[in-house]
Amino acid sequence: MKVPLLDLQGQYNNLKDEIIKEMIEICDSQRFILGPKVEKLEKEIAEYCQSNYSCGVTSGSDALIIALMVENIGYGDEVITTPFTFFATVGAIVRVGAKPVFADIDPETFNIDPKSIEAKITDKTKAIIPVHLFGQSADMDPIMEIAKKHNLIVIEDACQAIGSEYKGKRVGSIGDYGAFSFFPSKNLGCFGDGGIVTTNDEEKAKLLKVFRNHGQSGTYIHDYVGGNFRLDALQAAILSIKLRELDSWSVARQKNAAEYREIFAKYPAVLEKIKLPVEADYEHRHIYNQFCILVADGKRDELKQFLLDNEVGCAVYYPLSLHLQNCFKDLGGKVGDCPVSEKVSQEILALPIYPESTTEQREYVVAKINEFFTK
Ligand SMILES: *Cc1c(COP(=O)(O)O)cnc(C)c1O
Repeated sequence: MKVPLLDLQGQYNNLKDEIIKEMIEICDSQRFILGPKVEKLEKEIAEYCQSNYSCGVTSGSDALIIALMVENIGYGDEVITTPFTFFATVGAIVRVGAKPVFADIDPETFNIDPKSIEAKITDKTKAIIPVHLFGQSADMDPIMEIAKKHNLIVIEDACQAIGSEYKGKRVGSIGDYGAFSFFPSKNLGCFGDGGIVTTNDEEKAKLLKVFRNHGQSGTYIHDYVGGNFRLDALQAAILSIKLRELDSWSVARQKNAAEYREIFAKYPAVLEKIKLPVEADYEHRHIYNQFCILVADGKRDELKQFLLDNEVGCAVYYPLSLHLQNCFKDLGGKVGDCPVSEKVSQEILALPIYPESTTEQREYVVAKINEFFTK
C-alpha cells in the first residue's frame, strides 16, 4: 500500500469540468488581473471568515507583508511572534525592516503561549503575529487583551487555518487583520500562489487595496509606496468553486483525525512512544491542515525514514526553530531561548490526513508505526 502525505487528484477530478469551463471563459475575456472574479471571491471569503472586508493578494506571505505595510511597521519597530511556524511569518517582519521578537510556544497546541508574550514587550513593540498552526486557533482572548493593554496591532497568521474557529469566531476576524494563503497544499488551495487579507475595519480595507496596487489612490497617483500584490482572476475563479466544498473537506479531515485516535488506541505500547495532537481546552474548531504527532527518545528521524521506506508520506513541520536559523543570526538567538519550540521541532512528525485518504490507509500508517517500535 502507498499513502501519500497529500493527494489533490481526488478533489481536482470532482471539480475539473466546472473549473476548466471557468478558466476558458476567463481566457476568452483576456481579463486576468483583479476584476469581477476577484471581487466575487473577496465577498465570499469575507463572509466565510466572518469579516467585513477582504483583499485578494498574491500569496499568504504577501498578505502578512501588506498588513505590516498598511500599519507603517518597519525600521526600528519590533513585532512579537512564534518561533515555531512556517518561515514566511517571520520573513514578512524582516522584509518590512522590522525586528522579529520570539515568544515561546504552548507545548500542547504548538501555538504562541500568551504567557510568554508580555515579557517581550518593549517601547518599540508595534504588533503581535499569532499563528493558528496546523489548523488550530491560538488562544486569542489573552492575546487580544495584551494587545489592547499595550496598544498593539494583531495580525492573525491564518494561512493554515481557513474556517478554523476560536470560541465561535472564525480566525482572521478576531485581530486587526487575518492573513490567508491559497498555496495548493493549504485546505483551500488554488492552482499556483494566492492569498487574501481579512479585516473588519473599513479604513484598513481601503488602504489594503491601495497598497496592493503600488500605493495608487488614483490613476498613476501614488500616496504610498505599496507593491504589486494583485490576485489574478484565474486563481480567484478556481477558489470560488473550491470554497463551496471547503467545509466538507474540513469535516472529512476532522473525521480522519478522530479515526486516527481510535486506531492508535488499539496500540497502547505505541502511545507510550508517541504523543497524539492535543485539542486545545478552549472552545474551538480545528480544521486539521496537519495531523502532527510527537515522537519521543530522539526517534523521530528514524521513524520518518522507516515510514518513507514503506511508502507512507510524512514530513517534519518544522525542523529548526526560527530563532536558530542562520539568516536570523544577527538577532542573536541562541539555544535555550525558546526551549519548548526547540524540543517540539525535534519531535514533530506530520502524518497523512487529507480528506480523501481512507480508513485502510490510516490503519496501514498506524500498523507501520507499531512495526517500527516493535521490530
Ligand atoms: C503557507 C504559510 C504562509 C505563507 O503562505 P504562501 O502563500 O506560501 O506565501 C505563511 N504562514 C504560514 C503559517 C503558512 O503556513
